[in-house]
Amino acid sequence: MADQKLKEVLARATAQLNDAGVDSPALSAQLFAEKVFDLNRVQLIMELESSVDTEKAAEFDALVKRRASGEPAAYILGVKEFFGFDFKVGPGVLIPRPETEEIVEKVQQLFSTEDEFLFADFGTGSGILAVTVAKLFPKARGIALDLSPAALAIAQDNARLHGVSERVLFVRADFNEPLLADAKFDLILANPPYLCEAELDEISYEVAEFEPVSALVSGPDGDEDIKGSAPRIASALKQGGTVFMEIGYLQGKVAHSIFDSCSEFSGCVEVQKDLSEHDRVVVAKKR
Ligand code: GLN
Repeated sequence: MADQKLKEVLARATAQLNDAGVDSPALSAQLFAEKVFDLNRVQLIMELESSVDTEKAAEFDALVKRRASGEPAAYILGVKEFFGFDFKVGPGVLIPRPETEEIVEKVQQLFSTEDEFLFADFGTGSGILAVTVAKLFPKARGIALDLSPAALAIAQDNARLHGVSERVLFVRADFNEPLLADAKFDLILANPPYLCEAELDEISYEVAEFEPVSALVSGPDGDEDIKGSAPRIASALKQGGTVFMEIGYLQGKVAHSIFDSCSEFSGCVEVQKDLSEHDRVVVAKKR
């Protein structure tokens, strides 16, 4: 093909993605261009009138084609930002969601950066919660559980990438089993699967088709992992310890009652809203 300018390549890709009906077409095209043409955001704008290398343009078109089929940009690029840090992601793990960052903010309200504490992450996935907390709190140590070996491999890569491998232990385990029952933890973090089976039909094609169902759906009512883990969390926490669990926006009542019915948490459970004013995080303190 004759000389093409970067701006033409970008415009064509954006139009193609727009026609395909995927989320954020222009942003996807920009992210792919930054990666393939090795440009940062500012350079991308500066180079709009430059001609692009034909081979690189073909590489770029191939990414756009994958995106047009619905594959999420984060999987195609292999990274997603969470709390300002880059995390490796892949088809075996959920793509980090912005609302999960609010759990990290709650941890920052609870501990100072100098505090020494022990935490567990129930269902770590790509490791975002465990790794971010270990990174922000240099004296914290943690155990991160997941049932999926593929997820654990990605989480361990992320721990290495962020220099916290020595302080986070990754363990293949079902967090609904009594593995950490010795009341040692100051903090438990959890973003379990919480969608119900019916919701899987309603969510976007990109999520349902490409992200791991095991990280999204928790039984017919979406609450199997909340029910299964609440008593485990109760026995793993030390007295005065806190759990932050992400839940679905319709699960506030049910999650409150599940945690409140554990004697260790009774009367010390709160459901907090996210920035969109949806019920999102269970905060419970062990009495
Ligand atoms: N918030 C996710 C979604 O909207 C669900 C994440 C989860 O189940 N932990 O798809």
